[in-house]
Amino acid sequence: MEQALKELTGVCSDEYIYNELVANNQKFNFEMDSSLPYSAGYYPSTKTFKFRDNDAITSVKLKEEFFHAYQDYFYDGGTAQYADSGRVNIEFEAKLYQDINTVLEISCCTAFYDLNIPKKVRDDYFSWVMSIAKNANELTSQTYLSWLKRFNQYHSEYSSPIHSELSAPEALYSIIDSSPCF
Ligand SMILES: [Zn+2]
Repeated sequence: MEQALKELTGVCSDEYIYNELVANNQKFNFEMDSSLPYSAGYYPSTKTFKFRDNDAITSVKLKEEFFHAYQDYFYDGGTAQYADSGRVNIEFEAKLYQDINTVLEISCCTAFYDLNIPKKVRDDYFSWVMSIAKNANELTSQTYLSWLKRFNQYHSEYSSPIHSELSAPEALYSIIDSSPCF
């Protein structure tokens, strides 16, 4: 855990998120749960990070789950209210955050990795993410909404009604605007 946190806070925007949560007195629980269907998850109703086992505690997993914690802090009333309608909005914004953070150095793209997705779609997403990484102004609410719809279409495991209040990536915008990282 310590090692994963250390790696995480070595990345500019992750460090920004971490410091924002600490500065605003956000408290979280950490739990191990061997029955977890995924290797790691953030549960907004109890503000709990859960991990299936020790191998699940990596900086890559923490990155996504910390972003979910930031969404929970950022959006009025928290994100537990979007467990059904809006679930896909919450998930896609977190995947996009991860993708624009890693596209230049490590790999891309967690949001459209599945080889069953047409290559043209995967390539177009990669180009869009790359353009945002180079210039954050490329992240417009129109392009975001169109990719959100495609994410909803291709990921049955995350698909849900799209929530109109979350149709723009406001949590991500706040990090882009307020952190020195983009
Ligand atoms: Zn997630």
